[in-house]
Amino acid sequence: MKRIILLVILVFLSVIPLSGTDCQGLDAWNRYFNDEYFDGRLPHNVEICSRNTDDNKLAVTTLEDHFIITFNTQYRIGGGLEHLILLHEDCHILTWAEKAEHGRDWKNCMKRLDKIGAFNRLLIESFQ
Ligand SMILES: [Zn+2]
Repeated sequence: MKRIILLVILVFLSVIPLSGTDCQGLDAWNRYFNDEYFDGRLPHNVEICSRNTDDNKLAVTTLEDHFIITFNTQYRIGGGLEHLILLHEDCHILTWAEKAEHGRDWKNCMKRLDKIGAFNRLLIESFQ
């Protein structure tokens, strides 16, 4: 029951468009993903923001004294795509030491998310 209430709150937050630097809804989603899919292995101080990153990527992850996931404001991202991108970036954080940008470790992270149903839930089951 607690999970259902949290999921309803997160779905409500997801209808808020991603704009400016207001990514509080995505912070909540990332905490949920960390508990639900990553067994709390993501750092708890991941910062999520949005700005024009002057490239063609939807989002990038950087490491300063903490990880920062930056959504590119050149794109209007919503409708649940931002959650998939967040999982993509979370796998970058967990496999940060890997040299290749989308190497074997990152792909295994994404495949594990697929295997445990993360994408199914976001892409299929969240629609009524
Ligand atoms: Zn990537």
